[in-house]
Amino acid sequence: MNQFIRCLTCNEIFLRTPYDQWPEIEYPVAVSMDAPHFIEKDDYQDFLKHHQNHPLEHLEVLQDSFVSEQPYIEPMKVSYFKATNGKEIFVIKKFRKKIDDPLTYECIPGDFSLKLLRLEIQPEAIIKQLAREINASLLSQKQIEAFLKLFQKVLKTVDINNLERIQEDSPHPLEVYYKLDELSIAYLLRNCRNIFTGKAYREVEEFIHRHKEDGVLLLKGIYQIQIHESAKQKKVALPIQKAMQEKRYIEKK
Ligand SMILES: [Zn+2]
Repeated sequence: MNQFIRCLTCNEIFLRTPYDQWPEIEYPVAVSMDAPHFIEKDDYQDFLKHHQNHPLEHLEVLQDSFVSEQPYIEPMKVSYFKATNGKEIFVIKKFRKKIDDPLTYECIPGDFSLKLLRLEIQPEAIIKQLAREINASLLSQKQIEAFLKLFQKVLKTVDINNLERIQEDSPHPLEVYYKLDELSIAYLLRNCRNIFTGKAYREVEEFIHRHKEDGVLLLKGIYQIQIHESAKQKKVALPIQKAMQEKRYIEKK
């Protein structure tokens, strides 16, 4: 179980893992593999020494609070999760300064939430899928454009709170897919009659039914991580000039 130790004076944190007590094995740069050289390393002792006489506290990581800005496989990604000392919440920012650097943990007193930036349709994917499934002779470029325009119009009428979130692995943690609600699908189908006729309409209708639950007709929600720093912990350092101006203002009063 990962647990952080936080210095209340410096607001620095240390991740305690079973490994921090283990000696690090270092192989000599030369090819010789005999007798690896042991370095006694105890990062935790270093941390304790550095924060001698400072009050320390334990932070417990809150389960399921992990969120990342970049795809999970991205090695340089910046991730956030929440931890608590039992009274307050802290945001822990996890990142690497350089690709071969160890992970750095930064502690921000406060909380974070996810804010929806926008909801969008997937036009390129729709165009590709239509071309794959419906004979090109049935649909003109103009009709496809009209369909996308109609879909955009439907998008403007949906309320994200009424949409069902698709629980599939999105490679990007801040992109979430939603299924169109039945009312919107009915509206889309009805208005497709103004764009397509006969066989083309029937094909498009089937296309919509085939893809409303997955893939190209899903709506994509793009989220942003918003960090809310708790005000009382913030260190207010005014730029010198501003501080002097304020002083002058106070003196005038
Ligand atoms: Zn300290």
